[in-house]
Order: sequence, then C-alpha cells, then structure tokens
Amino acid sequence: MNSHTSSALLTTSLGDIPLTARGKVRDLYAMGEELLFIATDRISAFDHVLGSGIPEKGKILTQLSHFWFDFVADTVPNHLLASPSAELLAKIAPYESQIEGRSMLVRRAEMFPVECVVRGYISGSGWKDYLATGSVCGIELPKGLRESDKLPCPIFTPAAKINTGGHDENISYGVMVDTIGEHYAAELRRLTFAIYEKASAHAATEGLILADTKFEFGLVDGKIVLADEVLTPDSSRYWPAESYSPGGAQPSFDKQYVRDYLESIHWNKQAPAPSLPDEVISKTREKYLEAFRLITGRSGLEMVR
Ligand code: ATP
Ligand code: MG
Repeated sequence: MNSHTSSALLTTSLGDIPLTARGKVRDLYAMGEELLFIATDRISAFDHVLGSGIPEKGKILTQLSHFWFDFVADTVPNHLLASPSAELLAKIAPYESQIEGRSMLVRRAEMFPVECVVRGYISGSGWKDYLATGSVCGIELPKGLRESDKLPCPIFTPAAKINTGGHDENISYGVMVDTIGEHYAAELRRLTFAIYEKASAHAATEGLILADTKFEFGLVDGKIVLADEVLTPDSSRYWPAESYSPGGAQPSFDKQYVRDYLESIHWNKQAPAPSLPDEVISKTREKYLEAFRLITGRSGLEMVR
C-alpha cells in the first residue's frame, strides 16, 4: 500500500443515516426530504470500479460541480440546498472527515427518467450509432464525418435511464416526448443547449473542448432543476484543444493512463477489477487536478467549501 492508495476514500459509512444507494462513484444518503451525495475517490473504467482509488478525486469532482452550478445559475436553478437547517448540519457533523469538500446536500427531486445528452462532436456511442445508421437518436448527420469531428451544430441525443446496471439506451426526441410529455421534453432540450453553449464557451477559453456532456433534471416543488453532478470529467468528454485531431478516438482527458494501463495488462474486463500502480494513480490524479485548475481558475483544493 502506498500513501496515495491509503489516503483515497473508497467507501463511506455514516452511522444511523441510511445509505440509499451506492453508485460506481458516489454514495447517497437519505436525510428526510433532503439527500446527501458523497463523491468517493472510487474510479471506474470499462463499467467496473477499480481496486484503487484516486486520492481526492471526489473532492475535485464535487468542487467542479459546485463551480458549474454557480456558473450556469442564471440559466437554470439547481438542486443544491441553499441553507441547510442547523439540525441537518448537526446530524452530519460527526462525519466531517468523510464529507468535507466532497459532498452536496440537495433537495430530493422527482427525476425525469431521461439523461439529457448534448454533443458538439461525434464520439462514443454517438459515433457507433452514426457508423451503423448515419444518424444519432434519429437525427440525420452529414455523410463522411470522421470520428471526433465537430458537428455543424450541437445535437440533443437523449438516453433512457436504465437503473438496473444496464447501459443507458439512446432514444429519439419523439420517444422522450412520449415518456415525459412535450412540454417538459422541449424545456429540457432548450436548457441542455443553453447550458452546453455557456459551458463549452468557457472551456474553450481555457484550451479545453467540451465534446459532449450529460445532464439530469428533476422537479422540485413543480419546478425544473438541474440535478445530479454537472460538467465533471465523469459526465463529460473534455479534450485538450491543443492536441485535437479528428479521424480517431481522442485521448480521454482524465482516464487515459488508466485505460492504457488496463489494456497493457490485458485485463479481460471481468470482475474483479485490478488495482493500479502508483504511477498511474498519481498521473491520473494530476489530470483531474489539471481540469479543475483550468476550469475553475483555482490553484488547488485548499479553498474548498
Ligand atoms: P453510476 O455509478 O453508473 O452513475 P448510478 O447512476 O446509479 O450509477 P449515481 O449516479 O451515483 O449512480 O446515482 C445517483 C442517483 O441519484 C441517480 O439515479 C440520479 O438520477 C439521482 N439523483 C441525482 N440528483 C437527485 C436529486 N436531487 N433527487 C433525487 N435523485 C437524484
Ligand atoms: Mg449516475
């Protein structure tokens, strides 16, 4: 065990507070009407949680989410609890070491069962669909696109949320309308484009291409709010503009060292997932920090809220 692995927070436990769900990366606790999200330092690749964590990754991602929630607050309200009650704060206080800098207290929302994906570039499952059909989520695209090409304009490519471990499934806008109704579908699409436009313009000024990203929205008191995490490297594809070169997959900004390592040891992508060598852990950590520094303009995590 090394200093990094030993200081990564891989799992949380908050005494009597009930754990509602444990995702690949986040632990979710129920606190009455509110929810407490804790981003751990777990890292996943090829749909598996790896044996090693990336120290402070959960803090970096949470601080990035906070930055972006603020950044787009004029465009859309969010699920963050503005002023948690003294009672709530007292309840979580004993667990400060597991929470500090890496948690969000949020209003419990009635979530729309749709992931709102927006793509400015053709990559990932969008690229696969395009190769097979010439379109993505029913949107026809120009012929002759290369992998990672910039699209003539960003496209909205929703996915149905499948909660039982399966992959989310790309759906057409028409199916989204059938699922949540025309009013909400149109509004979520509008908001998705508006947030993407704002965020990708900011990323561009820092030398990052925001190739695509995914938002989740819910209803709180009947109003649409931006929920979940936002614009983190776990929910978005960021590429360094400097090395952008369409015609193939772009190196993943954050997880490339991890993927390269896993390929190099010929892991069969079945459980149990391997642990990572120190060097891969520290290089990956540095990439997360680099994204954080570029996007937020802050030098480090010492000013965490
Ligand atoms: P994965 O680890 O693959 O992402 P997962 O999506 O099940 O799996 P999480 O993303 O950690 O794991 O789970 C968080 C869940 O909480 C998601 O289902 C998300 O839609 C939901 N969620 C996010 N914000 C809120 C909110 N304000 N109210 C209620 N549910 C929320
Ligand atoms: Mg999720």
